Amino acid sequence: MRPRIYLDYAASTPVDPRVLSAMRPYFTEKFGNPGSLHAEGQAAIAALDHARETLAASLGADFREVIFTSSATEANNLALRGALRAFREAHPDLRPKLIVSAVEHESVLQTARDLARAGAELVLLPVDAAGLVDPRRLFRLLDARTVLVSVMFANNEFGTIEPISDIGRIIADFRNGRSKFEVRSSKTSRLEPPASNAYPLFHVDAVQAFQFLDCRPEFLGCDLLTLSSHKMYGPKGAAALYVRSSQFAVRRPASRLEPRTRLIEPLLTGGGQEFGLRSGTENVPAVAGFARAVELADEMRVRESARLIRLRDVFWKALRQKHEQMRLNGVDIIAEPKGPRLPNNLNIWFPGRSAEELVARLDMAGISVSAGSACASRAGKISGALTALGHSPARARQSLRLTFGRATAFSELRRVLAVFRKL
Ligand code: PLP
Repeated sequence: MRPRIYLDYAASTPVDPRVLSAMRPYFTEKFGNPGSLHAEGQAAIAALDHARETLAASLGADFREVIFTSSATEANNLALRGALRAFREAHPDLRPKLIVSAVEHESVLQTARDLARAGAELVLLPVDAAGLVDPRRLFRLLDARTVLVSVMFANNEFGTIEPISDIGRIIADFRNGRSKFEVRSSKTSRLEPPASNAYPLFHVDAVQAFQFLDCRPEFLGCDLLTLSSHKMYGPKGAAALYVRSSQFAVRRPASRLEPRTRLIEPLLTGGGQEFGLRSGTENVPAVAGFARAVELADEMRVRESARLIRLRDVFWKALRQKHEQMRLNGVDIIAEPKGPRLPNNLNIWFPGRSAEELVARLDMAGISVSAGSACASRAGKISGALTALGHSPARARQSLRLTFGRATAFSELRRVLAVFRKL
């Protein structure tokens, strides 16, 4: 039997053998609890410290700015809920406002909707046909009550790369009370002073971006950043939230009557692990593997991105030549060869064909692809991200996501092309 061809690396990646080797000792001989004072505990805390240093070095961040969580879903919850909780405690009289792009992963969108049910104002930031957020539009939405803006670095379904550093600059300008985009009309010139010059916080979900793009928060201008190990050849069960230290630090109270508040509050109460932001014994083997995966991603980023762009472009051109009716969702890489699209992503509209049926037939032919994000495809839901691009529900149901990875080779893609031709 011919080996299967896996083209769903955006859903999850296999664990790199070098990552597995880094994890192994922490299941057996170095199994201690990092909170314990004895030798076994010391070995575990040493692994945790080393992992935190590795992530901090990769992000150009401080050791204390890296908070390990169990998943990116948890990290996104901590960012959004934690920020709102801290804001509410400090400003009980203000109704907090959240601005979230319309194409975020469900772990951000559903969390934001939940916070809106609990009384926050939620504004969904629309995107254009390619999936891009307009930073000027975002600027016009900012006001004194805006606690947090969340825009993902790269979309998990159609791979569009958002202009994160432009957004970071606009938010910084707003915090400092000035703007490039200052608009004079009475309707839009609402340069109200922010509630505190720390707000709005800027959160970036960089789960799909990290392997390919520079995710240093200093460069992006963000305060909070989410990463996930199992999207970068690390194990499941480990992820991280970067929390900028100025946000993390306890603010000096203005008077003795003002409570000491943090700008992010924890969601879990317990032993106070992760600098008090995420109680619960850390998953040491997974975190050790995550750190090794980060090192490998750092080493491979430039070369692997260039290799995948070549594969992606050759494959798409060959497919389009045979099937002219197919279209890409997101950035069109033929019209815009250097457009902001992830090197490993193709999201293809097959007019008149059910994506679900195609997934099943390709699966039988030994090829794994997906119809949208893993969570949405299991639930049989229409992709909200594709309809946010302005596409019809029918087009969303007829679109397949192919995501390439380290094992993807031209020989595999030739086989995929042949199968597509038969289908
Ligand atoms: N954010 C993005 C952009 C994702 O693609 C995913 C997973 O698909 C997540 C968050 C959630 O990641 P996790 O599976 O680690 O909870």
